Amino acid sequence: MPGAMDGYERCNGCGVCTLSCPVWQQSHDVVLTFMGRALALQRGAKPEDLRDSIGACLLCGSCEPVCPMGVSTVGVTLRLRAALNGAAPEELTQKHAASSAKNGAMLIPDAALRERSGLLERVKTLLGIAVAEDDGADIAGAFEAGHASNAQRAGAFLKPLAGLREVVTSNGIFKRYIRGVLPGLEVTGLGEALVRLPAVRAALRPTDLYVIEARAYNADFDRCAPFYTALGRQTGCAMNLDLQRIAIPTGACRTADIECKSAPKIPEQIRWIFEGRNFQRIVVEAAEDIGYLRENVGVPVLHVAELGGEALQ
Ligand code: SF4
Ligand code: SF4
Repeated sequence: MPGAMDGYERCNGCGVCTLSCPVWQQSHDVVLTFMGRALALQRGAKPEDLRDSIGACLLCGSCEPVCPMGVSTVGVTLRLRAALNGAAPEELTQKHAASSAKNGAMLIPDAALRERSGLLERVKTLLGIAVAEDDGADIAGAFEAGHASNAQRAGAFLKPLAGLREVVTSNGIFKRYIRGVLPGLEVTGLGEALVRLPAVRAALRPTDLYVIEARAYNADFDRCAPFYTALGRQTGCAMNLDLQRIAIPTGACRTADIECKSAPKIPEQIRWIFEGRNFQRIVVEAAEDIGYLRENVGVPVLHVAELGGEALQ
């Protein structure tokens, strides 16, 4: 498949992308990493030969900004998933017509945020934003799993978004999907949108660990890295960033139900992120992280929308 995979053929095997990869961290099996997939493809492997490796990937994007060869690691993995499903890669992100008028913003909450109605109300109030009736969970799941969405269904989901200036979403995978299908529409992660608010920002403490949603951050690294660096400097809080400013995922934010025996375990991933670090409180951007962190870390866990107010359940 030369030329059809966003540059896997440029991979030089340097291994930098494995350093932040949760799959490598837990398995130490290079075959399961992006580098393993790229080198195998270069040697003529077919997607079917790489099925377990393709399924294990969290699409967290931690490997992408660090690649010195500019390989679109997530794009390649998505295309491999599409190939396994017999879908043409371009079917994953079929372009839709965007309106030339650009007004207003809308929130697309994921299922974990919708389940917490009090938290969702708080987000709405803080951001003063309308909430999409259609959360597109099926569209996000299909995209992540490498299935082409039904064109009519995708069109119905995207229609209310087409004339907007900005979409705010708690589903990080939508940053890649919506930018692919509606180029020009600004897509912002929910955590970033909330922490832009002075009152929310002011409530962060130097003793907090702030857990960035890795998919949204890594998909938009060039803009997000300086934004969050400034946030850290201003508030003094620690973050789930490595020395290269890559956001390390907890693994909780997975939309698609992809069965894979080699997928990283969330509790192990959480132990890796928090090992040897001291903090008094955890503030998360992703509602999915709340339950996992409460189970695995013995300090209070808040959603960023709860900062400065009483805790919600
Ligand atoms: S960082 Fe890039 S070049 Fe290096 S192994 Fe990973 S994909 Fe290949
Ligand atoms: S996207 Fe995440 S899980 Fe997948 S190969 Fe890259 S770092 Fe590993």
